Amino acid sequence: MHTRPFLLAMGGLLLSAALAGPVRAQPPAAAHDPEALLELADGIKTTDNARFVRLLDQLDQGASRLPTEQLWYLRYLQAWEAAWIGDYPKATTLAMAVADQAGDITLRARAGATSVNMLGLGHRYTEAFVRLDQLLRLLPGVTDRQARYQVESEAAQLYGGTGQYDLAADYANRMTKELSSAAAQCKANYFVLHAAYHLGKLAAPEQDFRAGIERCTKTGERLFANVIRGDLAEYYLSQGRAGDTIRLLEANYQGVKLDRYRDLISQFDAQLAQAYDLAGNTGRARQYALAALESSISGEYTRPLVDAYRLLYRIEQKAGHYQAALAFLEKYMAADKAYLDDVSAKALAYQMVKQEVRAKKADFDALARKNQILQLQQALDRKAVEASRLYIAVLALGLLVIGLWLLRLKRSQLQFMRMAQCDSLTGIYNRKHFMSEAEHALYHAARSARSGCLLLIDLDHFKLTNDTYGHAMGDQVLRRAVMACQEFVRPSDVFGRLGGEEFGVLLPDCGLDSGIERAESIRRAIAALSEREDPGIPVSASFGVAWTDESGYDLRQLLMDADHALYRAKRAGRNCVVAGKQGEGVVVA
Ligand code: GH3
Ligand code: MG
Ligand code: MG
Repeated sequence: MHTRPFLLAMGGLLLSAALAGPVRAQPPAAAHDPEALLELADGIKTTDNARFVRLLDQLDQGASRLPTEQLWYLRYLQAWEAAWIGDYPKATTLAMAVADQAGDITLRARAGATSVNMLGLGHRYTEAFVRLDQLLRLLPGVTDRQARYQVESEAAQLYGGTGQYDLAADYANRMTKELSSAAAQCKANYFVLHAAYHLGKLAAPEQDFRAGIERCTKTGERLFANVIRGDLAEYYLSQGRAGDTIRLLEANYQGVKLDRYRDLISQFDAQLAQAYDLAGNTGRARQYALAALESSISGEYTRPLVDAYRLLYRIEQKAGHYQAALAFLEKYMAADKAYLDDVSAKALAYQMVKQEVRAKKADFDALARKNQILQLQQALDRKAVEASRLYIAVLALGLLVIGLWLLRLKRSQLQFMRMAQCDSLTGIYNRKHFMSEAEHALYHAARSARSGCLLLIDLDHFKLTNDTYGHAMGDQVLRRAVMACQEFVRPSDVFGRLGGEEFGVLLPDCGLDSGIERAESIRRAIAALSEREDPGIPVSASFGVAWTDESGYDLRQLLMDADHALYRAKRAGRNCVVAGKQGEGVVVA
């Protein structure tokens, strides 16, 4: 006999098993398929509870052979049955185990909802709110509408029972959107009405409640119709409408008794007692107040119980039954205290869990933010590395460009230098550079006391060549004459163009004889040009040789002396070599 079938006695007094009623389509009974048997059992929990219990026993005997998920399903149904028959401790333990360990999210949600219900019934409010919080976080992932509806109804009940009507209204409204069956809508509508009434949001409470009652009556949901009547009676009493309260509750009193929902019976009793008291019918008032005590569950301190004790105390006091009045006063005070303690325990649990969840969320947020910062830092580091790589690349490129630029600069410098030092027509030293290089060579020759010779070469009748064959041909003769000279010029010699068709060769570490010999070789080579290269163009050169033993190491003096010798060579008939101041060593070709 289940006098109190699975009802949540948390002020909101509601029935969870009734909410989670047989909504699943019943599969055909396949006696040996455990999954089908489980589904079948699930579907007939309330409609054929006896068969349901038999099926559970059958399944439990083969439990060791069931796959894990089916075993959790069986445990859930066993939890449900334990709750149905009032074995709350067993129901709580089983439901919590399934909620924590089952793999299927729908099953976890259903078992979680049952756990919250059981914990509430057991006055374990903190645990109930903790589990509810976990359950609500699971909710977005739950797709089964029946399971969602069940979770939302638990939230609506628990929040409503704690006076958190805003939250209760929110979940009640969600319930209306989950399941469209008339029965589901009747129940959801009750939660909506209950929360809205306590929030003062019902524009016309009487009509709204009556519409809700009608909706539930139509679908045969007598219990929920009566639960709404309880709210309507509360409204009537708050308005001092004793007659309406009495008519409403008396007309449905037998129905409430039939449902054996003791919390609701004691509520009707207490409300009727107050209504009769209000109407001046003390006898009836006392009768119903005593009935309320009778219908209350012993050990549970509810509002109807408190209201009944208070009324009895006042009635006895008025009647002058002071001893009885005193006894009811004591009972009233104890019940009131216990009831208020329970109310504040609920409120405290709600606040504590809320704070804890907030603190956890704050911790979590802080951690998430820390992570974000860390990630940002890493990204920045990566960017910095990239940036420095880029920087290095740009720098390297810059260096390369600068290097190339310096190379070009160096090349053009060298080119300028060559241009500054060399003769553009013949490529040998120009006069200026010849002078400085020759001075340098003479300085070293002087320091090492070695003799040197200076040859001065002047092409013969070159003006005539120019005039006869043209300036361009003259240039070519100049270049060929230089090339002829170069065959006899050594790397240590200094060779340069001193003027138009006049050249100088300084031969360091060279005595007069070998100087004359070298000059003679060059003379022959130039003279040979007219036969070899330019037949018809007569080319020859005259040579003046000066040497250090006679002229000293001063270049100007050497040049002057060589020029004199050259002059004498021209006078001697050209194409010859004249050496020394006195004209000794004259060699005529
Ligand atoms: P000599 O035998 O007495 O030296 O007679 P010369 O004609 O060689 O002497 P002169 O000094 O009168 O003439 C030199 C000529 O050299 C004058 C000039 O036209 C020519 N000359 C000077 N520099 C260049 C040059 O770079 N290219 C060409 N084609 N001719 C040049
Ligand atoms: Mg000349
Ligand atoms: Mg000349």
